[in-house]
Amino acid sequence: MLLKKIKKLSMVFTVACLGLSPVVWSADEIIVYSARNDSLIKPLFDLYTKETGVTIKFTTAEEAALLERLQAEGENTPADMLITVDAGNLWQATERDVLASVDSSIIQKNIPAYLRDPKNRWTGLSIRSRTIMYSTQRVKPEELSTYAALADKQWKGRLCLRTSKKVYNQSMVGMMISQLGEEKTEIIVNGWVANLATDVFSNDTKLIEAIAAGQCDVGIANTYYLGRLQAEKPDLPVAIFWSQDGAHVNISGAGITKYAKHREAAIKLLEWLTTPDAQKVFAELNYEYPANPSVSASELVKKWGEFKPNTIDVVEAGRLQVEAVKLMDRAGYK
Ligand code: FE
Repeated sequence: MLLKKIKKLSMVFTVACLGLSPVVWSADEIIVYSARNDSLIKPLFDLYTKETGVTIKFTTAEEAALLERLQAEGENTPADMLITVDAGNLWQATERDVLASVDSSIIQKNIPAYLRDPKNRWTGLSIRSRTIMYSTQRVKPEELSTYAALADKQWKGRLCLRTSKKVYNQSMVGMMISQLGEEKTEIIVNGWVANLATDVFSNDTKLIEAIAAGQCDVGIANTYYLGRLQAEKPDLPVAIFWSQDGAHVNISGAGITKYAKHREAAIKLLEWLTTPDAQKVFAELNYEYPANPSVSASELVKKWGEFKPNTIDVVEAGRLQVEAVKLMDRAGYK
């Protein structure tokens, strides 16, 4: 009843919290909170609006801020959908109970079960891999094998890493804990820290550029960052090496908020995002792999070749994040 009244009012509702820009909503639109950049979602939303006439308003911010905001707004949130990256963040969203279960046969048909929440509170929309990158000028691929081997003495003073504060590394180390156990993982992370060529980087782009510039010879990064750089500079002297024990894969994904005011419309949008047409655009905009297995990757991404993904459940990596953070801290990984 109350919900209907609110809808009828076609009101303008302003939210001001956590220092983020206010969101204004009315009844005939879908409101999305997105941790993905404008440039990666706007073209898709424009396409959806063109096809359906439904307006989508979105606000973008860092994933942690969006989660805080959703939680603080509670029932009053204007957001219908949350789009974010990394299973660790999606897991966090379910822990904070800000997402609602969605029983959709379309989503279940389009996206494999291992890329979805077992309770249907979110679905993966694209797959990304975090793997080894190396200088094509100073490293032969034969010298490389696994993430663990980057802890060997031969890489002393030659390794670049991104900060352990980034969720990507927390999920990756979580995966290693799940696969190798805590003790072995700690030995490896200690070895990485001992091999660092320079301070940790704030992002993957800087890390890859450091490999290209000769500051270090090897590193670990998400493949789409290389994709973005390769699209501009096809001759960049950095290449991908797929870790032989299975490359760490993660996802970007989305869910419907627990207090969505336009739940049905938002579900339709989420379903559409899993369809082949949308999946192709979604993956290509950021050089990722489509989560819908019937859709092929872009030409640039295909050039990186086939790889064996690590089959650890993406949610498991999220669950092990806290342990991963403590372990990296003990190892002095900043
Ligand atoms: Fe990223």
